[in-house]
Amino acid sequence: MNQIVAIVGRPNVGKSTLFNRLIQRREAIVDSVAGVTRDRNYGKSEWNGRTFSVIDTGGYIKGSDDIFEGEIRKQVELAIDEADAIIFVTDVEEGITPMDETVASLLRKVQKPVLLAVNKVDNSMREKDAIEFYNLGLGEYYTLSSTSGSGTGDLLDALMQAL
Ligand code: GDP
Ligand code: MG
Repeated sequence: MNQIVAIVGRPNVGKSTLFNRLIQRREAIVDSVAGVTRDRNYGKSEWNGRTFSVIDTGGYIKGSDDIFEGEIRKQVELAIDEADAIIFVTDVEEGITPMDETVASLLRKVQKPVLLAVNKVDNSMREKDAIEFYNLGLGEYYTLSSTSGSGTGDLLDALMQAL
């Protein structure tokens, strides 16, 4: 069974960086369904011998928070429908933003596994800054640095357990 994992979160938190790290092979960027799939990248990934598909959401969402709140909401709702598990990416440099709260409130209602990833934890100093992410009400979080790859193994271990 091919399971699908969606990466969601507001712009600039590092979703695509994580996606690129997780995938081995990128599938065609689907561009045919107007307004929906053009914003999404699909790839295949493998961890501990299990393969799964990964969706990177919000590819073309750029710009100020207020304009794109509705777009993010749409992406998250799509991901909730389509995916078997969701990785919600946040950014320790910025901390919790109102848009993170919005996404969290959507994800708290979901009956599927949601893994909260606190990205840009590039050094141990930032581990303690990540503690505030408990306040999103999604339970345990996983710290990682998508640019260096540190922490992604623990995230994937948790993902495999959750799927
Ligand atoms: P997206 O909009 O959520 O897809 O975010 P991107 O993957 O495009 O990344 C946005 C910016 O954050 C880029 O400049 C990345 O290089 C940077 N970035 C991503 N992951 C990390 C990380 O782990 N640490 C740091 N310091 N920067 C990161
Ligand atoms: Mg992106």
